[in-house]
Amino acid sequence: MAGRDHRVLKAWPQAASASLSFDGRPAPGLKPGRPVSRGQLLAISRAAGQGDLRAPFSGTVASLSPGLVELAFREGVSGQVPRPLDLGSVGGADLAPALKSLGLDLPRPAPPGQPALISALDPEPGLGLARALWQDQRTTLQRGLALLGRLWPDSELVEILPPRLDPLGAGRALRFREGFPMTLPSLLRMRVLGLPWPSPDGVVGPERLWALGTVARSGLPLTLVPVSVQGFHYLAPPGLRLSEVLAAVNLKPLLGDLALLGGLATGRPTARLGRGLRASDLSLRLIRAGRLPRPPAPCRLCGLCRQACPLGLQVDLAGQFPLEGWARLPAKVLGALAGCAGCGACALACPSLRPLLALAQAAGADDPYGRAPWGPPAGPGPRQQ
Ligand code: SF4
Ligand code: SF4
Repeated sequence: MAGRDHRVLKAWPQAASASLSFDGRPAPGLKPGRPVSRGQLLAISRAAGQGDLRAPFSGTVASLSPGLVELAFREGVSGQVPRPLDLGSVGGADLAPALKSLGLDLPRPAPPGQPALISALDPEPGLGLARALWQDQRTTLQRGLALLGRLWPDSELVEILPPRLDPLGAGRALRFREGFPMTLPSLLRMRVLGLPWPSPDGVVGPERLWALGTVARSGLPLTLVPVSVQGFHYLAPPGLRLSEVLAAVNLKPLLGDLALLGGLATGRPTARLGRGLRASDLSLRLIRAGRLPRPPAPCRLCGLCRQACPLGLQVDLAGQFPLEGWARLPAKVLGALAGCAGCGACALACPSLRPLLALAQAAGADDPYGRAPWGPPAGPGPRQQ
């Protein structure tokens, strides 16, 4: 079932270059000037759950430095062409390493005895990618679901669906009518399963399912990632420089604008527009200076942040602190924020625009998606615009 045009995932035009960061070691023999084929191994990831780095297109290695490889597109260039892997014949304990080697970031499984949730919900307001994938890429998602069942043979897979979206056929499906922040992976898990603490483990969104289904269909390394750019949805090669992504949709950042990676609620501002797009980014949005919230005003002691908090935390205790005091928050405040899910609902509710999510993160809030705090390391600083 196709959605409206702006929900259809569009193919990204051929990229001229890519800037790809990694946290492991470069593939043997990789060096500047070397030709590489699309899907060729560029670096082996150190982390067990993080996919190895694969070339998103064919070209030559423009530069190689610790944690970063830059690739330039060249027509007709060929390096080591990857051969398809018959994932059907890979089983048991070999499946996860095989998927990692194909470039997949593996989802974190649910604790033993608990079901895994396949969420079709858009986790944050304005993201839109989940519904777009669910509507446009059903066959691939179903292949991803089958592969996930083999990856986690001991977990029941339960689909979590908003109204009027068809299940993929995992078995059990539950309708979920609550809105943000309960649609975030960590809080969804808490609410659906009645768990006392938020945790994003064992929650799989359509973007991860799409990645699984894509490699299941071809047996080839993953060379595209789903991403929303200014509300439009694309399948794009990872490593595109953020400045070039914005330029491709006719956006040129001006002084004072804000580039936001991720959703509107828990997204992270970035000034590093020279860094490459990553699979965990999900969304890139440019917010013009004139549309940015005005600077925070003093706390009004209204308590709306506490009311908005799905965990009932006393976030207002922290919001009253002057911004310059946040580097040394007293134990009472840190204690009030213990267990924070990092959902950002308090910040959205605050009429004084206190940056409460940043405060919660400073106090050690978890990432509601379970992402690494600031993504993989390395990568150059901002490029001149
Ligand atoms: S980010 Fe704010 S609303 Fe969300 S759990 Fe933490 S304190 Fe509560
Ligand atoms: S919502 Fe904002 S203004 Fe109101 S108590 Fe919380 S921090 Fe203070």
